[in-house]
Amino acid sequence: MKLKDIETPVSSVSGVGPALEKLLSKVDVFTISDLLSYWPRDFEDRTRHIPLSSWKSFPKVHTIAQVINHSWFGYGRMKTLRVIIDDGTAQGALICFNRPFLEKSLPVGSVIAVTGAFTLRYGELQSTVFEASCIDKNNSIDNYRNAPVPGSAVLPVYPLTAGLTQAQIRKVMAKALKEYGKGIEDEIPEEIIEKRGLMHKMQAVASMHQPKSLEEALLAKKTLVYEELYSFQKIILERSEEHRKIAQSAERNDSPESFESALSPLQKQLLARLPFSLTPDQKHVIAEINSDIDLSHSEEARGKQVQFRMARLLQGDVGSGKTLVAFFAALRTIDYGGQCALLAPTEILARQHAENAAKMLEPLGVTVAFLTGNLHAANRAPLLAELKNGGINIIIGTHALFSQSVLYKNLRFVLIDEQHRFGVVQRNAILDKGRQSLEQKALVEKGEIPQPPDFMLMSATPIPQTLAHTVFGDLDVSVIKTMPSGRKPVLTHLTRQGNEARVYEAVRKELAAGRQAYFVYPLIEKQFEDEEEAEYKPELRQIDAPGAGLKSAEEMFQFLSQQVYPEFKCALVHSRVDEMEQNRILSDFRDGKINILIATSVVEVGVDVPNATCMVIEHADRFGLAALHQLRGRVGRGAEQSQCFLIYSEKLSELGKARLKVLHETTDGFVIAEEDLKLRGPGDVNGIQQSGYFTLGIADPVRDKSIMEEARADILRLKSS
Ligand code: ADP
Ligand code: MG
Repeated sequence: MKLKDIETPVSSVSGVGPALEKLLSKVDVFTISDLLSYWPRDFEDRTRHIPLSSWKSFPKVHTIAQVINHSWFGYGRMKTLRVIIDDGTAQGALICFNRPFLEKSLPVGSVIAVTGAFTLRYGELQSTVFEASCIDKNNSIDNYRNAPVPGSAVLPVYPLTAGLTQAQIRKVMAKALKEYGKGIEDEIPEEIIEKRGLMHKMQAVASMHQPKSLEEALLAKKTLVYEELYSFQKIILERSEEHRKIAQSAERNDSPESFESALSPLQKQLLARLPFSLTPDQKHVIAEINSDIDLSHSEEARGKQVQFRMARLLQGDVGSGKTLVAFFAALRTIDYGGQCALLAPTEILARQHAENAAKMLEPLGVTVAFLTGNLHAANRAPLLAELKNGGINIIIGTHALFSQSVLYKNLRFVLIDEQHRFGVVQRNAILDKGRQSLEQKALVEKGEIPQPPDFMLMSATPIPQTLAHTVFGDLDVSVIKTMPSGRKPVLTHLTRQGNEARVYEAVRKELAAGRQAYFVYPLIEKQFEDEEEAEYKPELRQIDAPGAGLKSAEEMFQFLSQQVYPEFKCALVHSRVDEMEQNRILSDFRDGKINILIATSVVEVGVDVPNATCMVIEHADRFGLAALHQLRGRVGRGAEQSQCFLIYSEKLSELGKARLKVLHETTDGFVIAEEDLKLRGPGDVNGIQQSGYFTLGIADPVRDKSIMEEARADILRLKSS
């Protein structure tokens, strides 16, 4: 069986109860296949002995040491044990917060194995996050001089979420491998595995989760990267071939009369109801999409086996009006008798689309439904039934739209909004959903070929040209450049830290005039208690180092609401605020009941509040350019002049300055994207993953460019032979 086909729910792994199941669902792990392909983001090499004296050069010390002494500090329940150790190279202290029992298990005079991160604090080398175990109750460390450190292994390090620990994942992974890891089939041909010196898939999966050495882990990773890029390039090559075969309706008449007369009945009705006119680019793109959709539903398309009929990337800067274009496309599909699904990356954004769709489309007699993973079972069942019998024309939601239990009568159009993490696997899932539609299945039974759905990806994060060829080679690209009229470009101010008061006053003037403001911070709360804690703050992944001295959203919420703006209503949102609560806050903000929204980058995509005219981003140098551009796009959505204040730290590097300057000088997202890529340079170790343009599962189109070329060459060679 192929790994992706093991759809057994994760709860069938022994030891996975409802609590763990819920945690895993937060990181999108629902099936055994999801679990076994939940790849580590890094590996920790504990096969090397790293003495205390090298604490500075390595994230963790891994050594054998002697316990010299115990001491205690603090009182009562706060009383904390300090274990002084010496490994022959240096002395250090283990600070045992909440672990008084270590007094017994690490007695004075014993020899212990220690793994932990050490830093210099209060004049001594200290560790608060460590693992330690006794090797010998009473011996001299001299007898362990050349002994290997017990517990030597290469450990996978997984991305986490609140409440989920590395130890938990490693444990379920071990069980899942034992119970389901056998008999996983290869995805790539045997001869390529041999030629490229790759692993078989089954081995690669095992080696990712339980590597015996770092080399083994890296080869496993290379195998998976290759496999992903192989299937990606395969889709791209196949589609571009199909594409050449399909006759494109070449000539298009862009005159106003012909635009209107070519609209379908529902499209005409929507156009008539709009309080504004479409921009020239919106019209142009709608015409492009219309001819694709017509082709998909034409007689000549029937009976032809293809991947996607329409596969289009719709690019348009924030606020350029992509949603409306999407609605026009959906209406034409509905006129042809098809169903549409609109997928958004967050529940907030999905809800906003659903509200807009209800407002704009329901008056035309179109039925709109909203589906997310949080929907109650009681409400879910009737909704799914309606979807199956065709009572719903357009469904809007998060990735729940493609889960197994969701069946469509005739899904013919899939729209994906702002979903950068959208790779091959998901494209395939969409194809499958469309082909499993009841009407398409019926075609199969009659011996006919099922029709694939049309598919359009919408993004405001401009994709640099350089990347577009390799990553979006299979997509047609439509661009909206003209903005709706009446929009004034956002004024961007750069302000050095220390001058915040001036910014706060400028914002106060806007608030006093009835306008609203966003304040954005890189952290949720002040500090981390420990490393594991730091790992589940998604907002932090984009910044270099978790820093002391960074302002956090929580602390600034207190400060701004109590000290600076006591006369205004403030609210706080970030990823750890309950989702229902987030929705309530955002809808209050939209209704003007809240004046100031203090947030992390959760407000980066989608939030559309035209009355908000100020965007303040503190520690702006800690955000990526693409993120800053998106954040700035939250304002300037109404007729009033908007402003964006970028507050940067006093010790800004040259590169940091250059980046902010780009933002100051242009509001053209495409220029920003190109500059961003240039400034990062090809040697950027983090590659493109962190920049938010696009991510595959494990491969990175920039970092792994040479592997992508290998895969492409292999496919072409196999074809011609
Ligand atoms: P984005 O491209 O960022 O997704 P939206 O679709 O959210 O942009 O549109 C932003 C706002 O502009 C919405 O409030 C929408 O109603 C409005 N809008 C869309 N098209 C036009 C237009 N042609 N003229 C005026 N306003 C428009
Ligand atoms: Mg949008």
